[in-house]
Amino acid sequence: MAGRPLLAAGAVTAATAAVVATAAVRQSPWLTRLLGHQATVVVAVPTAAPVVALTFDDGPHPVLTPQILATLDRHGATATFFFLGSGVERHPHIARAAVSQGHEVGNHGWLDRPAVRMPSQAFEADVARTARAIEAVTGAAPRVFRPGSGWFRPGQLRHVRAIGNQLVLGSVAVVDLTVRRVDREVAFVLRRLQPGAVVVLHEGREDRRKVVPLLERLLPEMHRLGYRSVTVSELIAARADGHGRARSAPLSPDGSSPQGRRAGRSPRH
Ligand SMILES: [Zn+2]
Repeated sequence: MAGRPLLAAGAVTAATAAVVATAAVRQSPWLTRLLGHQATVVVAVPTAAPVVALTFDDGPHPVLTPQILATLDRHGATATFFFLGSGVERHPHIARAAVSQGHEVGNHGWLDRPAVRMPSQAFEADVARTARAIEAVTGAAPRVFRPGSGWFRPGQLRHVRAIGNQLVLGSVAVVDLTVRRVDREVAFVLRRLQPGAVVVLHEGREDRRKVVPLLERLLPEMHRLGYRSVTVSELIAARADGHGRARSAPLSPDGSSPQGRRAGRSPRH
């Protein structure tokens, strides 16, 4: 896939969008902006209000997820959990707790296998099985899907959209999944936050436990800058129209806007 051109001449086709979208997860600001306006894949959402979506992949985990829920609750923040079907089956009470506390549960497949390597039928069965498990446990069918590994094929994108889901990647991803240096990762996320950003974080494994202190430091800083965290579906609903006006009312409690934070000023090494 590395040899394929990122952009075909002219319009971005569904096929190239899939490739470009995945590249955007690695924080190329112009790609993020480009794809933010593409209707097919949600990387970031153009919003007038200073809202962002925090997302957590690979749970639920019996220890980490309850800690994340408690931290979000303490800071009055709402998030989206891309849970694995197998985890939801094993820890149904945690998935229920997430929804009852106002968070969104998205579909991340049954086992977090790289979606792009799955044959179409197996992929579609996996998405359906996970959606059934989430709905059976939480009472709400998932409306958002994130492919395992972030890579996917155009046919898989078409399938996700055909079943009424949005395929969601992200515009700010914490790449160090074990978050060895919490302060550095918090600064990294804050540097790249902008209205409509989708932040990708990971849980679901004991060695990712530092996601909790990361969140503990990130949330007050985000709020200080005027950002409010909402679910991915709420973020999509807040998409600004072509004239830069939000369809929904500004969500910041005091109406302030983020101060001078724009994505991609400092490359990460
Ligand atoms: Zn994953």
